[in-house]
Amino acid sequence: MQTKLKISEIFYSLQGESTFAGLPCIFIRLSDCNLRCNYCDAAYTWREKGELLSIADIIDKVNSFPCNLVEVTGGEPLFQDACFSLLSMLVQAQKTVLLETNGSFAIDAVPAAVTCILDVKCPDSGSGDSFTLKNIQEIQNRSVNRPGSCELKFVLSSKNDYQWAKEFILTHKLTGLLPILFSPVQDRIKAQKIAEWLMEDGLNVRLQLQLHTILWPEISRGV
Ligand code: SF4
Repeated sequence: MQTKLKISEIFYSLQGESTFAGLPCIFIRLSDCNLRCNYCDAAYTWREKGELLSIADIIDKVNSFPCNLVEVTGGEPLFQDACFSLLSMLVQAQKTVLLETNGSFAIDAVPAAVTCILDVKCPDSGSGDSFTLKNIQEIQNRSVNRPGSCELKFVLSSKNDYQWAKEFILTHKLTGLLPILFSPVQDRIKAQKIAEWLMEDGLNVRLQLQLHTILWPEISRGV
């Protein structure tokens, strides 16, 4: 029997986040999530049923687009065990593979060739304390073995979140080791504020704005 995954959508767009922002990219968005962040902009992934697709069908769809960069995202992709097989098959198919995960699942079994972009949920997300701390060691190892193979993302709702995120990266000695991205939650905090705090603190952290929401502000999915 073929392994199947519950898929919310597969689409071709421009990468809007991470250090890959601005590049054409195929997105495989898996259904379901184990968290319920209060700012979730992809709630349809866990409110709707999604479509069951085999890995072969997913790869066929990916191959129909003129692009080699593929992001597996969600929802929470690692919530479905078969995601690990999908990642391996994409690597075998010679794709450049990104995984965007909410950080609550261990990434040990993710193929080393995959670039992992991990969210660390801040307190005001409503999903604080969800980060799997054993991922820290794995992130450190991967970043030494293949620089740039992990990125950390913090989505900030408040100054409180900023202070918490700053404390987190300093406590775990992460600055300089891997790209760290701070993003504002739209309508809660101004990007300019984060820019000012980063400059005041001289943090080796990148302010990230969602490029796709700037390019296509009227479209909420499939971009
Ligand atoms: S982890 Fe992502 S998909 Fe899941 S609830 Fe939070 S924002 Fe939504």
